[in-house]
Amino acid sequence: MIPFLDLKSINAQYREQLIQAATQVIDSGWYIQGQEVKAFEQEFAQYCGSEHAIGVANGLDALTLTLRAWKELGRLKEGDEVIVPANTYIASILAITENRLVPVLVEPDEITYNLCPKKAEAAITPKTRAILPVHLYGQLADMPAIMDIAERHNLLVLEDSAQAHGASINGKKAGNWGHASGFSFYPGKNLGALGDAGAVTTNDEELAKTIQALGNYGSHKKYENLYQGVNSRLDEMQAAMLRVKLRHLDEEITHRRRIAAAYSEGITNPAILLPTQHSTLNTQHSTSHVWHLFVVRCERREELQQYLSEQGIQTLIHYPLPPHQQAAYVAWNQRSYPLTEAIHRQVLSLPMGPTLSLELVGQVITAVNMFK
Ligand SMILES: *Cc1c(COP(=O)(O)O)cnc(C)c1O
Repeated sequence: MIPFLDLKSINAQYREQLIQAATQVIDSGWYIQGQEVKAFEQEFAQYCGSEHAIGVANGLDALTLTLRAWKELGRLKEGDEVIVPANTYIASILAITENRLVPVLVEPDEITYNLCPKKAEAAITPKTRAILPVHLYGQLADMPAIMDIAERHNLLVLEDSAQAHGASINGKKAGNWGHASGFSFYPGKNLGALGDAGAVTTNDEELAKTIQALGNYGSHKKYENLYQGVNSRLDEMQAAMLRVKLRHLDEEITHRRRIAAAYSEGITNPAILLPTQHSTLNTQHSTSHVWHLFVVRCERREELQQYLSEQGIQTLIHYPLPPHQQAAYVAWNQRSYPLTEAIHRQVLSLPMGPTLSLELVGQVITAVNMFK
């Protein structure tokens, strides 16, 4: 079988280094808020090109705590509207509603599936205070245009960078475009821990300190609590695992790009719509995609998935049901976002990963091309 993502083989590449790092943590006797987290925060901030990185427990918390921090700092208040793409993973929306802010769902760009700046700007009302673009599948949203809108309308921008570690536009990376950015290090992400982990990056020191405190019971100083915070910390063990894996992230991205190039050149079946890189649309910007997912569209998606499965090829659907059709948001179930719904009906993610061989990629291409 060709697996969709082989996590075991990904981590096996660094087995010795991971064991060594884990051993150091075990032997240190220090498991929460120590040197590993501090070092990872510095290394990850440097990787993204941002001034601060704050480790938190997971990607959802990275988004939720950033919005919460803006509320504590008086920059957002309950009931404020946050513009977000309708076709995102539900975590982006949960972070907004958890803070009693109001998500304003906007249809994505038809070609990149990322937040469409024109539709986002058209959705602005007097209550709009923030935009939450999602760098879906590993490609940045059109951040130059989104930051321009934010500046003109005085809006905060929180990037959801959970799928886009290392992706860039004009050399500027995910995590360094908005006023803050949330990252996930869920094991299957491009930079994955061996458990749950997340981080926020920002150039805003006041925000960084507030998030840090909020994730540590609202405490800025031992036994003194400024806020009614939560416990959302990155632990020493996961930070140590992430430090090992961060050193190899760029090589892994390079391999993902090779796979994407092979798929893009090799798949010629007219029933399959291939993903498009923004740079081919807008030559003003040089964009780099990190191919967290290689997502094709097919009108007969279920048949294609079944057929590939019979050929021994595992595929996944990101995502079968958009947030507005989930039971969790029953009040929105009657709404209609036709483009978002079509995307959710038609997308299929092909095998992709840093240890997937080009030979197996060739087998996937052949199988996809033979699908009738
Ligand atoms: C994975 C993901 C998240 C949530 O990250 P967790 O670490 O699983 O909480 C948020 N947004 C997007 C787009 C994601 O893909």
